[in-house]
Amino acid sequence: MKFGFDIDDTLIDLRAHAFLLYNRKLGKKVSFETFQAIQRVEIHEPFGLTDEEGSAMWNSALEEIYFTDCPSFDGALKTLQTLAEQGHDIYYITSRPKQYCAQTKAWMEAQGFPITDGHFFCGMQDAEKVAIIKELALDIYVDDKPAVLETLHDVTTKVILKNQSYNQHVNLPRLYDWQEFQTMLTK
Ligand SMILES: [Mg+2]
Repeated sequence: MKFGFDIDDTLIDLRAHAFLLYNRKLGKKVSFETFQAIQRVEIHEPFGLTDEEGSAMWNSALEEIYFTDCPSFDGALKTLQTLAEQGHDIYYITSRPKQYCAQTKAWMEAQGFPITDGHFFCGMQDAEKVAIIKELALDIYVDDKPAVLETLHDVTTKVILKNQSYNQHVNLPRLYDWQEFQTMLTK
């Protein structure tokens, strides 16, 4: 089968990682419970930042957010390694900015994620992912972001939603825990 995966906040816990960095950089102690209750993808509001300040903060910290020790979600790495061992095709589709694509691929490989040449797509807009998903004729695609998922209504691909606080309104098969992924496929 052909599996496609978003990276940030689907395979790796990037927002939580960035949240810890924000606390450190801004000298704050905003609680993890506060983080878990944020109803949007952006994380700056509990730090008292405006959208403009939040965007500036995100962009100034981006390399540190992306390329330090962001953890993957429990079971995500093992799940993809197992799928690869079983002979499935694994594709990555991330809208990270173009200038970070090569480093992102290298970082993912260093974490142990199985990446085949030509299976790493990066640098598109969120709304452009759908064209790639169709062209690859993926069987399964996993993402977290409502803006992406809203574009995937008419694909034949089975779309699975990685559960997050900001996507509770989206009505799709919901992955709470990567340990459950292979079981979900059989349903
Ligand atoms: Mg994502």
